[in-house]
Amino acid sequence: MKHVELTTTAGKLAIPELDSEATSKLHLTWHWSAGSYRVTSSLLEHYHFVIDKHGKVRHGVPLELNISTRDKPRDPGYARHVLNANSNNIGIAAAAMGDAQEHLARQGEYGKWPMTQAQLAGMTEVAAQICAQYGIPVLPTRVLGHEEWDSIHGRPQDRWDVNCIPHLDLRPYLNSDGTYESTNYLRRQTAKRVAELHVNSDPGERARQLAVFREFVELHDAAYAAGLPVETIRVIKQLRQLPPFSTFTRQDLTTAGSTGNEDKPGADE
Ligand SMILES: [Zn+2]
Repeated sequence: MKHVELTTTAGKLAIPELDSEATSKLHLTWHWSAGSYRVTSSLLEHYHFVIDKHGKVRHGVPLELNISTRDKPRDPGYARHVLNANSNNIGIAAAAMGDAQEHLARQGEYGKWPMTQAQLAGMTEVAAQICAQYGIPVLPTRVLGHEEWDSIHGRPQDRWDVNCIPHLDLRPYLNSDGTYESTNYLRRQTAKRVAELHVNSDPGERARQLAVFREFVELHDAAYAAGLPVETIRVIKQLRQLPPFSTFTRQDLTTAGSTGNEDKPGADE
């Protein structure tokens, strides 16, 4: 299988070239190892990517082994990182959090090997590079923490990674929609990075993205003019605000050929 080599702030990353059938099914799950900062060979047999204490990525199980499509079954050597949800699921783990306990984390105690700031940066960098490459939307249903497979998808895991972020003192707190504050933070960081990576992509691709953005804006305005319910308008707006479209503003529609990466105040509403 051919691989794409990416240069990232977490080090070199190699991921397989996948077709759209495979990428449309992909999920990405963040973990911690519940061990020390040591990247053991056993860890590398459980996850596709392991992030060390310094935020650098190590390659574990080849992620193509977890891919399952009409033409290709999952390989027996696939990474088992989420109970009953390993097909087309990419696992990224921080080697950390050994001896940490959820009830102590609620009191602000994170054990001897708390996830480091560099590890968190590595987790979001690798996630963003993968999401940008495969076009995975950074939504809670697709990009999530291990425990959120339970709270969002209703698949019991009996795990609590990654429900806290030690260096920000984000303690385990479950929102009514099944998300955790900690993973919402990781998703925001990831989405921001995905947007940056898209800005850096080739001009032809940017022009195509701008054309789609224009359609969203026109649809938004037409929905307003037609007096459609505010819920409908909100959905259109949410689509428009997903990366890479979130990197454009209305002003980009009047300046042809703009790269659209300047931070301009939004003209709408
Ligand atoms: Zn886990």
